[in-house]
Amino acid sequence: MSFAENLVTVQGRIIAACERARRDPAEVMLVAVSKNHPAESVAAAVALGVTLFGENRVQEAKAKIPASPAKARWHFIGHLQSNKARDAVALFEMIESVDSLALAAELQKQAEKQAKSLKILVEVNVAGESSKFGWNPDRLLAELAALNAHPRLELHGLMTVAPYATDPEKVRPVFRKLRELRDRCADLLGAPLPVLSMGMSGDLEVAIEEGATIVRVGTALFGPRPRPVRDDAAE
Ligand SMILES: *Cc1c(COP(=O)(O)O)cnc(C)c1O
Repeated sequence: MSFAENLVTVQGRIIAACERARRDPAEVMLVAVSKNHPAESVAAAVALGVTLFGENRVQEAKAKIPASPAKARWHFIGHLQSNKARDAVALFEMIESVDSLALAAELQKQAEKQAKSLKILVEVNVAGESSKFGWNPDRLLAELAALNAHPRLELHGLMTVAPYATDPEKVRPVFRKLRELRDRCADLLGAPLPVLSMGMSGDLEVAIEEGATIVRVGTALFGPRPRPVRDDAAE
């Protein structure tokens, strides 16, 4: 399948899920996850109207972003080490995966130095998987005020990576919990947190039915990922 065909399929899945949930498809943004795919693939996607891309490694993005069309906008979706915060702030319009107060403080510092504001989401480890990064929900509620106190960081909402499941219905409770946690966080802050980034190639319908406003789709668009090139220290 070509990227163009895959894009039509994914857009059709998004629209069908929105219809089932009685939601406006304009509320759901597609982040095309281009990790492990080259700048040429990004250019082909941009030519078909895709403008938002997701990357999970700074090192890879640092080479790919300057080689990609200027129209492309970039979200960081992986675990970010503090020593890569400077590059991440320079390269990305949103960091979806802020997973600690220490990282938030470092992003604030780098955004201040670069005189820009940075959109962020907080990553939540809803299912408490030891293999995943992200906030424990109770801890997030306790630390939310501190997280929101950084003047250069604009907190837009929450993000999660659901556990792998062959039946996407199995992860519906994870998405629902993220939405409920978002509602509690918004109440606590007294401000709306409109963005819910959840749902990937295998489970985007269920995520949209539960309120996703960003779906992050890699495989269903670009096909299977080539093996990552491990040419730098683990990120
Ligand atoms: C790789 C990745 C995706 C895309 O996953 P697919 O199953 O290929 O759609 C989405 N979100 C994050 C955080 C990822 O690392």
